[in-house]
Order: sequence, then C-alpha cells, then structure tokens
Amino acid sequence: MNTNHSLRLYQQKAENDIRIALRKGCKAPLLVLPTGSGKTHIFTSIASKAAQRGNRTLIIVHRSFLWEQVSSKLTDIGVEHGIIAPGRTSTADKIQIASVDTLIRRLDKTTKPDIIIYDEAHHVVAGNKWGRVAEYWPDVPIIGVTATPVRTSGQGLGVGSNGYFDHLIIGAQISDLSPEYIAPCKLFAPTDIDLSGVKRVAGDYDRKEVGKRVDTKKIYGSVPGHYKLICYGVPAIAFCVSIKHAEHVSEEFQSAGISSASVSGKTPKNRREYLFDALARGKIMVLTSCDLVSEGFDVPICGCAICLRPTQSLGLCLQQWGRPARPYPGKKWAYILDHVGNYTRHGMPNAYREWSLEGAKHNPTTSNEEGVVAVRTCPVCFNVHAPAPVCPECSHVYANMGRLPETDERIRLREIEMEKVKENLKKQDIKFQRGGCRSLEELEEFARIHNYKSGWARHVWQSRQKKVSKYAVCNY
Ligand SMILES: [Zn+2]
Repeated sequence: MNTNHSLRLYQQKAENDIRIALRKGCKAPLLVLPTGSGKTHIFTSIASKAAQRGNRTLIIVHRSFLWEQVSSKLTDIGVEHGIIAPGRTSTADKIQIASVDTLIRRLDKTTKPDIIIYDEAHHVVAGNKWGRVAEYWPDVPIIGVTATPVRTSGQGLGVGSNGYFDHLIIGAQISDLSPEYIAPCKLFAPTDIDLSGVKRVAGDYDRKEVGKRVDTKKIYGSVPGHYKLICYGVPAIAFCVSIKHAEHVSEEFQSAGISSASVSGKTPKNRREYLFDALARGKIMVLTSCDLVSEGFDVPICGCAICLRPTQSLGLCLQQWGRPARPYPGKKWAYILDHVGNYTRHGMPNAYREWSLEGAKHNPTTSNEEGVVAVRTCPVCFNVHAPAPVCPECSHVYANMGRLPETDERIRLREIEMEKVKENLKKQDIKFQRGGCRSLEELEEFARIHNYKSGWARHVWQSRQKKVSKYAVCNY
C-alpha cells in the first residue's frame, strides 16, 4: 500500500488539525477548504492511514456517480477499497466509499466503521438521510469536508443549528492559495436580471418563478456573444435553472456557431460520460447543465462558469464559481460570467469569508453595512473589480473618480485610453472571428476579407490539425 500522498503544506496542516481535534475529544470536526483545492486528497489520506492501523473508514458521497472520483483517487495511490453503490457487491475492505442513498438501504448489512467521513458535508443535518447514517452509529466520530459550511437557508452546520459538527477547521481561504493550486478568477457581469417580487422557498428564490424570468430569449440571447467576446474557446459550463432552460441555452450557443450540449441528473450515464469527455477533448465548448455539475463534480478542464441561475444561496453560488478554479495544464484564469447578478448578493468569488458553525457571518471585506458589495463593473468590458480609477482588465478610465478637476489634459488622456480600448476590442473581435472558422474554406474566406497573405489559411489549418492529436491539453 502506497500512502505517500505528497500533500501540499496547507493540506498537511488541515489533516493534522483534524487529528489534533479528534485527539482533544471532538466528535465531529468540519474542515472548510475552497472548491478545487483538493479536499479529496486530504480525506483519502486520512482513510488510508486509518486502514494501515487496522481501522475502518466509511466515506460518504452524496450522489451515486461521485464515488467514482474518490475511488480513482484511492486507486491512484494503490489503496484497496470497497464500494457501496447500486450494482456493486459488498467487500470486506477497511475503506468503503458509499453513495448515501444506497448506504441507508443497506445500513444493517454494513460493518460498523471506526470513522465516518462526509464529502460535501454541508448536506449533513439532523433528520435527513445523511444525518440518519450518523445517528445509526452515534458513538462513531465523523469528519466533514466542504467548501461551503452553510445551508441554503443560511444556517450553519453546528450542533446548535440542528447539525452534528462540534469543531470548525478553516483549511485555507481562496486568497491564501497560490495560482499553482487554484486558478485565479476573473469575474464579468455582462447583464443583470430584475428579481423584484420573486418569492423565496426554503431560503432561495422560487425556482419556477425564476425560471420564467431567465428562460427567455431576451435574457439568454446575449450569452453566446459575451462568451465569444470574453473567453472564446475556454471550455465552459453554464449553470441553468431547469432542464428546459439548459436546453434552450445550449441551442442558443449552437446557433451562434459554438459547439454545445446540455446535461442534467437525468442524462443517462453513458451519454453523460461522453459529454464530459467531449468537453475535455474540445469537441464541445460549452456544456449547459441543470443541477448536475454544481457540486462535488470534477471537470478540471472547465475554465469558465456561465452563471444563469440567480440564487440567494451562498453555498450554491460558491460551488458553481468553484468549478473552473481547479488547476489544469495551460489554464491561466477561472472565468466567471455572471449574467444574473449573483456577485451582488454574495461578493467577489475570492473574498475573505468568515465562517462559523452558526453559518456565514456578515463580511466587511465584501460588503458595507447595508450589505451592498463594494465593487465596480466596467461599462466597456463588464469586468467586476475592486473600486479603482481604471479598469484592470481593459484600462477603461472611470469618470468622476478622483478629486482632481476635469482639465483638458485629463479629458484628452481619457480619449486616448478609450481609443486604446476600442482598438483592443477590435483586435479581439478579429481573433474571435478567426477562431470561429471551422474549415479550410472558412479560413480562406477570412484571409480574403482581411487581406492576409496567400498560404496563411492553409498554414493555420495544418497547424490546427497537428494540435488536434494533443487536444487533451487545453490551450488558453
Ligand atoms: Zn474594462
């Protein structure tokens, strides 16, 4: 058994903190680490060390297909394990990965573990199916891991909030992690949506009502255009309100000449796997999704989250924003295209967040006392950034920012800046048009329009053909 995990420093510290907490008598420590920062590495390390000492670990995942990800991590480090999931027969291995739905049906046939680990532990609440497992073996310590220690209602996961956890461990904040470990994000808000009058159900917007507002051509019609302008070619996942909404958005991308498909929890496994593989191989550029990919689901190549589902849930929002954050060869940025104003409710993705077992606290670094987030949205490129006199993305100079009076010189400088911005946008536009050419004929037509030298189109086409053979490495 090779348990040499080569954990990063913050992961080692998190693992140690859990061990210390348990030694001090905690029954249920909860570890918080940002999405994409490698929580699975930590709990598979804990499980494999426990197995070496002869202890049994039960790892609980919340969806049937998520055990595959945990299983492959354990297989990578040569750790034997069993799986409690539909169609799998039980084994005597010290480590068992269980899909929660299957597990609660087989509780009486499952050997009592020495420790229970909950992945995506924000689901674990007294009385629900996750809670039932903890209650079945009340004397077994539990470890929870999550990026978002908060329920949809805003309540926390502590004993005092009808939960189980008795000790909170903050592994790291997004802003603590180097770009090598988590892709730095760029947030753009090309559009917003009017949600006045939408009712709330269980702490979040009523889905049906929200669906009516967002599933209209007027709202999603501009989405492909903005994607093209901001991060064309970056593998993206769009988060939608309903399956129908996801299908409509996907059709919109297709009619804009961008390869796209929709996926949901109801998509058959084979098809789902095919679609994720297609995204990884660059055959599909944008996958639109309803519910499936929001949490726990690893799609490391994804470099862009297109947010089309307005939510009051900080947890859901962070889970979606976290999807493009996982590092991947060639990935520079995690793009977030927020079309529904989620950042106005939850602050910037990389904001410092003060968590507690009672829930998320008001965060002075993201919002003022009225809860209004202190950011600027650039009117030229839609980049959302901390207040500054100049947009860090496109160098647009804001008017009325300084205390200096408007002088002819300042106006002239601003005009020069605007010209630069326009020139940049024009260059980007040409780049996008070129990227959109999907055949040699289209490239030749493009070359003719832009007066490129003869032979250019063939040269580009041939170099693209060479790249296709290694397209698993995304090139952006
Ligand atoms: Zn800008």
